[in-house]
Amino acid sequence: SQANLAHLRYLPAESTDGAKIRLYTNTGLLADIRPGLERGSEGVGLYRSEIPFMVHNTFPTEEEQTRIYRGVLEAYAPMPVVMRTLDVGGDKALPYFPIKEENPFLGWRGIRFTLDYRNIQLDQIRAMLLANIGYDNLQIMVPMLSQEDELVRVHALIDEAVKQLNEEGFPVHKPPVGIMAEVPVIIWMLPTLRANIDFVSIGSNDLTQYLLAVDRNNPRVAHLYSHFHPAVLAAIHDLVRTCKRLDLPVSVCGEMASDPRAVLLLLGMGVHTLSMSAYKLPVMKWLIRHISMADCQALLQQAIALDNDKDTQALLSQKLSEIG
Ligand code: PEP
Ligand code: MG
Repeated sequence: SQANLAHLRYLPAESTDGAKIRLYTNTGLLADIRPGLERGSEGVGLYRSEIPFMVHNTFPTEEEQTRIYRGVLEAYAPMPVVMRTLDVGGDKALPYFPIKEENPFLGWRGIRFTLDYRNIQLDQIRAMLLANIGYDNLQIMVPMLSQEDELVRVHALIDEAVKQLNEEGFPVHKPPVGIMAEVPVIIWMLPTLRANIDFVSIGSNDLTQYLLAVDRNNPRVAHLYSHFHPAVLAAIHDLVRTCKRLDLPVSVCGEMASDPRAVLLLLGMGVHTLSMSAYKLPVMKWLIRHISMADCQALLQQAIALDNDKDTQALLSQKLSEIG
């Protein structure tokens, strides 16, 4: 139980063969901050900035945003906080800005939306930079990226926000900038994008949905949605290998990082940074402290040889029950 795992808070997330794993939290509401800190989170791997937008009645002002973001940066400082820029559209609607589309998941989502509403994106970036003053633990992450040009334009916006604020007398500077790997083409774009990104975080929820062309929220096709599908695992493995080759820090912030069975495979691939719901942190730390990377690598090899997700899940469940 969680109570029995409370003692883990101050112990490192270190495997039996000495690999140190960074465990971060996914948050979005100020109410999520404490649960992560209380469970020994080492930072925020995904701050879903659309959540404060979704609970407002209108677009929050720069001042309101600055206050909200500062709450998160301050609570976690000096630990890193990865703030994702506004990711609306798809399944995430703003009540005061309805978007009607035939195919919302293939439509105006994430960075596609905010680059068309430049001022909304500029205000948000300004608020993030202002909130970062005095803490310097902000990292900015771009959702739904699928074009090199989008990245170029986000950089231009961040540069512009920095310049404006400096001219207004605020001592802000450009933070590290990374991307979500959640649109499948990213797998093949990384070498081109490398010079303009500091890190990659794998959004396994959308990546799985787009690789399989299965709506992640549609119960009729829910049985087809699995991050254990052999080709989904192969794609994630390729992504991780490419990041390593390019010396690009990589983490996972989708649901896979909250699933102990999937985590065994991610560790086997060499993913050493995982971001998850605060409530999963104790169990994941316990798991990491009871396995070796050698075991995870062997499991990965076994999983790759299996050709269906049911067998892979059975293999991983078996391993988990052996560990405890
Ligand atoms: C993802 O797509 O895996 C992800 C973490 O982003 P979200 O669930 O917010 O779309
Ligand atoms: Mg996503």
